[in-house]
Amino acid sequence: MTNADWQDRTRAALWHPCTQMKHLEQVPPLPIARGEGPWLIDYDGRRYLDCIASWWVNLFGHAHPRISAAITDQLARIEHVILAGCTHAPVVELSERLALLTGLSHAFYGSDGASATEIALKMSFHYWRNAGRPEKTGFVSLQNGYHGETLGALSVTDVALFKHTYATLLRHTHQAMSPDARLAAPGESAEARALRAAASLESWLAEHAHATAALILEPLVQGAAGMAMYHPIYLSCAREMCDRHRVHLIADEIAVGFGRTGTLFACEQAGVRPDFLCLSKGLTGGYLPLSCVLTTDDIYAAFYDDATARGFLHSHSYTGNPLACRAALAVLDIFEADDVIRTNRAKAARFTGLLAPLAAHPRVEHFRSLGMIWAFDVRDAAPGFGMDFHRRALEMGLFLRPIGNTVYFMPPYVVEEEEMRLMASVVRRLLD
Ligand SMILES: *Cc1c(COP(=O)(O)O)cnc(C)c1O
Repeated sequence: MTNADWQDRTRAALWHPCTQMKHLEQVPPLPIARGEGPWLIDYDGRRYLDCIASWWVNLFGHAHPRISAAITDQLARIEHVILAGCTHAPVVELSERLALLTGLSHAFYGSDGASATEIALKMSFHYWRNAGRPEKTGFVSLQNGYHGETLGALSVTDVALFKHTYATLLRHTHQAMSPDARLAAPGESAEARALRAAASLESWLAEHAHATAALILEPLVQGAAGMAMYHPIYLSCAREMCDRHRVHLIADEIAVGFGRTGTLFACEQAGVRPDFLCLSKGLTGGYLPLSCVLTTDDIYAAFYDDATARGFLHSHSYTGNPLACRAALAVLDIFEADDVIRTNRAKAARFTGLLAPLAAHPRVEHFRSLGMIWAFDVRDAAPGFGMDFHRRALEMGLFLRPIGNTVYFMPPYVVEEEEMRLMASVVRRLLD
């Protein structure tokens, strides 16, 4: 079977995510036969550098022997068992280790990112109900924020392209000013922009906190907004305001968790502990679908009761899947054994250095980086820029997926200097 065979058959049988299927007439999907570290290899034997970590999920490259071995070992024991009324070592060990790493003592599992958002929103709402504050039903999120695309998650998402069509199906929520540093006024620093956004949230909360259950946000980087980065002071302010106004803080670290921003979790950079922490994507190193919502003793205690209905009666069939939990445990082992956070710090500094000429390119604006994320906006991007840039990068061996006029790199952490040089040089040639 060649690439062309799989492209024909996929068009006949599949409906691809986030895709106008007619566009596949111009840009057929890339059939991937296998992966090797940060490389994807198609059915004709061509190699592409996975610059976006397969939609931000992959941490340590494809076909990683240690993660694969953990899953294989688990396969011979138990592949899956219902988690209502049963338990097993992988899910217990994973919950214990995540609690140690986050200071959040109770873990509830889902299967993908959007389900984690749904769980956090429902838990927050239900907490206030159990706590005798049933009027606290509202949610506030940030402008240009992204939390997934099921109806509840889409209600707190603010990306017009995904949301507008479904607007009448959704719950009304408020979007607070984004702290995105790119939106700073002329002469305004990133910190000043963050403080201005915080002040705006403060005045909204002063009026609406009594009817608001939670603030949900993506700490430090709004991924789907085009890797919009903001100053950590916004998170410290948000934590303080949420405490003062008695509103939960939900940190959606689905994209930024597991070292992406340079610390294991982005909230650490502001010294903030959220009331709910949503994790997915990198949780299993990009191997299997799994998500997790971690929360505090206090919130857990509000559900602990003789009355069934005070409990959190929410479930997904594959909750706490043992194979996925073993992949996640292997990921945590790799973080420890390979001192990943420290190794990445050195790598990130080298890559930022390599990208300096690109940052100075006349077509590039708002060049930004944090941890293992680099992004810039293209000044004179024509309509259709993203798809066109994607296609031309592919011809030169890079798998990239611009968001609007934003080009970004979010590679697996195993990229080496040579591959970083390739990314920098191909993108520079494309801009020229
Ligand atoms: C990807 C993402 C989600 C949704 O996760 P899915 O697994 O795609 O449902 C939610 N929040 C953020 C910040 C994300 O990046």
